[in-house]
Amino acid sequence: MRRLVIGNWKMNRTVPETVALVGSLLARLSPAADREIAIAPPFTALSAVAPLLKGSAVLLAAQDLFWQDEGPYTGEISGVMLQDVGVSYVLVAHSERRRHLEETDRIAGLKVRAALRTGLKPVLCVGEDEVERASGRAFTVVRAQVARGLEGCVPGEASRLQVAYEPVWAIGTGRAASPAQAAEMHDLIRQELRAVLKDSARAVRVLYGGSVTPDNVDELMPAPGIDGLLVGGASLHAEQFARIASYR
Ligand code: PEP
Repeated sequence: MRRLVIGNWKMNRTVPETVALVGSLLARLSPAADREIAIAPPFTALSAVAPLLKGSAVLLAAQDLFWQDEGPYTGEISGVMLQDVGVSYVLVAHSERRRHLEETDRIAGLKVRAALRTGLKPVLCVGEDEVERASGRAFTVVRAQVARGLEGCVPGEASRLQVAYEPVWAIGTGRAASPAQAAEMHDLIRQELRAVLKDSARAVRVLYGGSVTPDNVDELMPAPGIDGLLVGGASLHAEQFARIASYR
């Protein structure tokens, strides 16, 4: 299975800043056959970035989508619209959306269905917060997030699905999960995937996200069950993201 590294730019960069960052990223990235690389700039920059990525090894991702394809949903963006501007991957239920916009597992499930229906590849984000980990509920929380987020998915869809394990306590804190903590949770996610998707579960990529940097990437990537990375802060720096994408 090809690994996948996605840069999540969050709510950062204007269109001219995005164009400049993509330029310096493309100048630094060295494509490799065993991995895919994608970037998720804000919605406002997607149309400007798509032509810059054409013919490059970098794919376009979006940070969210709505669960309907069109209609009276002011302010929302559909999977059809994302397809239209050349998006391949779409993040679903990132913890910042769960936290600030109260996105639930039910909404995550609707968005995964919408992404698949419109030909996109969803990246379902899951992960426990600090209190849940401290109280020993991390496994239960993550298991439920995977099961509900993938409700209605069938084995034939497995190769288009990604799950990103992003412990909330590791996001933007500089405190990444240890390789052992990540491996343990990835194993649990894989078990849950098997319960939903049977043998096809092996086609799903399980990414790790949370304070990945050039300094810890070579330690994290060899951990068992890590099929790629979701990178936030470091993806806004071309040199750092290029170094992360060229993990050994
Ligand atoms: C993220 O937002 O998905 C993320 C992993 O952020 P960071 O790398 O900054 O922790």
